[in-house]
Amino acid sequence: MTLDTLARTGLAGAAPLMALLAIAVMPIACALRTGDRAADLILFNGRVVTLDPARPEAGALAIRDGVIAAIGDDRDVLALAGPATRTIDLAGAMALPGLIDAHGHIRSLGERLDSLDLRGVASVEEIARRVASRAGAGAAGDWITGGGWDQNLWPQQDFPDHRPLTSAAPERAVWLRRVDGHAGWASLKAMQAAGITAATPDPSGGTIRRDERGEPTGVFIDNAMDLVEAARPAASAARVRSWIRTALARLVESGLTEVHDAGVVEAEVEAFRDLADAGELPLRVYLMWSGMDSDPSDAEGLVRRLEARLARPPLVDYRDRLTLRAVKLMVDGAMGSRGAVFFADYADDPGNRGLLVTPPEAIERATALALRRGYQVCTHAIGDRGIYLALEAYEKALAASPAADPRLRIEHLQCVRGADLARLKRLGVIASMQPSHATSDMPWADDRVGAERGLGLYAWRWVLDAGVPIAAGSDFPVDPERPLVGIHAAVTRQDASGGPDGGWHPEQRMSLEEALAAYTLGGAFAAFQEDRKGRLAPGFWGDVTVIDRDLRPLPAAAILEAKVLYTIVGGSVAFERR
Ligand SMILES: [Zn+2]
Repeated sequence: MTLDTLARTGLAGAAPLMALLAIAVMPIACALRTGDRAADLILFNGRVVTLDPARPEAGALAIRDGVIAAIGDDRDVLALAGPATRTIDLAGAMALPGLIDAHGHIRSLGERLDSLDLRGVASVEEIARRVASRAGAGAAGDWITGGGWDQNLWPQQDFPDHRPLTSAAPERAVWLRRVDGHAGWASLKAMQAAGITAATPDPSGGTIRRDERGEPTGVFIDNAMDLVEAARPAASAARVRSWIRTALARLVESGLTEVHDAGVVEAEVEAFRDLADAGELPLRVYLMWSGMDSDPSDAEGLVRRLEARLARPPLVDYRDRLTLRAVKLMVDGAMGSRGAVFFADYADDPGNRGLLVTPPEAIERATALALRRGYQVCTHAIGDRGIYLALEAYEKALAASPAADPRLRIEHLQCVRGADLARLKRLGVIASMQPSHATSDMPWADDRVGAERGLGLYAWRWVLDAGVPIAAGSDFPVDPERPLVGIHAAVTRQDASGGPDGGWHPEQRMSLEEALAAYTLGGAFAAFQEDRKGRLAPGFWGDVTVIDRDLRPLPAAAILEAKVLYTIVGGSVAFERR
């Protein structure tokens, strides 16, 4: 060893000496090689499930400089410890490659967490108390928002008026939506901001509730809610940043080491960059530019906006955390509201085949543009014809702008025709699917599409058997951000209480191993980084999720009871349960 090598590798002090001495007694695969420093972090006495075919299981792993340095038996790996190494005894817990949610909405999650959840609250007084507790936080101009109230749970069972809210937070506008989303409850300040008085007429399709003198009481029904909504100020940059921070903390607590954000605009990109600069991104974030933030049916406008956004080359691993190299498009709507586009009528709504959100020509042009600029395209497509049209657009765009490794994605892929699977495979398309959507939608999804099309609902088995990779996610905050909830849905197709018996369309279930792969390797592949994350192997990033029990021998219900103990990103402990 020369002085030169010493300087380059930063060897100094006692640790390397210990390590050098250890070489003699350690198997060569795990020994500290000449010039190596001690590990920064070692996990031992665990069930390390690597998803690496070369070594599927181990007891311990070591991370150095953000990268996995060794995987092996306790004795071998612990030999890499130095005086500054943090060692964690897993005591039989399961260590997995860091879990990745390939489709979520970070800002919306933060906004949801920041607003008052009033579901099940049994009195107006309790709601007022919760509003008052928020009155002092945030900027004076920020509205206090929330939802979930239901007057049927209160002793008097009448619609409320503005006074409890107005006195709880006299200086702040308060706006709370009813549990069904069909009514809103405003404080005086909110009504003043919206310019609503006794003279304001009811809009069509909406009612302003009034007292005997004709004064608005503070409750707005259906379209009348828009009068108040329209007055809500755009969130300040500081508020967006604080929502994102709140959401990120929740995400690492859920065991996620990476999230793909399905649609951001400039203000959010800026916020993520600032957080990355400040070292405040606790997990990896993979951003998709929104193709949905203005009228998506205007093809020219969409392409022009993307031209501007994609003028800059993709951002990859900025500050070891942030990537912006994708675009989110949306071909159709959702099945719940019968907006997803089908070849035939909705089974429960004859004459209705859904609504195209973005014209397929616009998807094709936007995709061709993105491919030329080195960006990936992720298109929301849910109904069988929506999926078909997205694939059609992808195929044309790929012909116009050939790319060596495009990895185009379909987001959701909720009701696919068996006939289209071969094309997904041929075009190399990734299926970005959300297992818990199946269990959320199963009460009504069969009614929407009928028996024949129903075979292709959330058809993970078909997709995997066709050789198409699945990147799993949750679409949080639509469904819970916890990957364990999604993994449970993937392997059971049952709700939390175990219904329906045997699972819903159980022939489409994944094995636990497939579900874990969809939440790790799948997301890594969808982010073009399967050579650095998605499995635990030497040289891969030190992204690890530790669950309190080995799920493999347990019944599937145990997945929902399991707890995340540690979330480790690039060797840093981003979350630990205390
Ligand atoms: Zn989404």
